[in-house]
Order: sequence, then structure tokens, then C-alpha cells
Amino acid sequence: MHEKGKFDPNVPPCTRCGCFITDDVGALQCDRCKATDKWKCADCLCISLEVYDGLEECKEICWMCSDCTGKVLEKKGGKDKVLAMLEKLMDKICGLEERLQQKVDVKKWEELESNMNKWLQQKADLKMLGGT
Ligand SMILES: [Zn+2]
Ligand SMILES: [Zn+2]
Repeated sequence: MHEKGKFDPNVPPCTRCGCFITDDVGALQCDRCKATDKWKCADCLCISLEVYDGLEECKEICWMCSDCTGKVLEKKGGKDKVLAMLEKLMDKICGLEERLQQKVDVKKWEELESNMNKWLQQKADLKMLGGT
């Protein structure tokens, strides 16, 4: 029997705050080891749910657990790699936020444009009427 609210080994806790990563909780799994218990929730990743939703179409965004970060750091030049990865991650998240922002603007612009076209069409119709 599967009861709600009971500990479920299929529902891992966030490695930072310990909250359970259920379907309602946005979270990223460690991209390196893909361990089933290495998750970090969107809250701890400091990303909004809006951005998190956008992440689904942005597969290159990843997170690494502390074990993996440590392992990568041990390697020569690993630190640079991690820093570069973090920078890329932040760039992606920033870019994503911008894109989400733009989505709204683009919609507004399209609305404006279609209104403009309608208006121009009306003017053209009037002109045609006036010409005949
Ligand atoms: Zn958390
Ligand atoms: Zn890992």
C-alpha cells in the first residue's frame, strides 16, 4: 500500500534543506553522478519556479552535488572548470529570465502590430472608397 505523507524512497530529500522532492517541488538532480539522492530544490538553487519551468527546455543547465564538485575540483584545472560551469549556469539562468521577460514584450509587440495592421487596413479601405 502506498500512503501519502509517508517516507517514500522514491522521493529524495533536497541535499541542502532536506525538503522532499515531490512532483510539486522543482529540483535538479546532480548532473555528474545522477545519484537518486542527490537533488537540490529550486529554493536552494535560488531560482524562481518561473525560471525552473523554463529550464525544461534548457537541458544544458545542470547542478552538481558537493561530492562531485569536490571530485572535479581535485582534478588539475578542475576549479576553473567548475567556475566556468557555474558562470555558464548563471548566464543561462539570467538569459532565461531575460527571455521570459521578452516573451511578454514580444506578445505585447505582436498585439500592437496587429492593431496597427488593422488600422492601416482600415485606412487603406477608406482610401479605396474615397478613390472610387
Ligand atoms: Zn532545498
Ligand atoms: Zn553527484
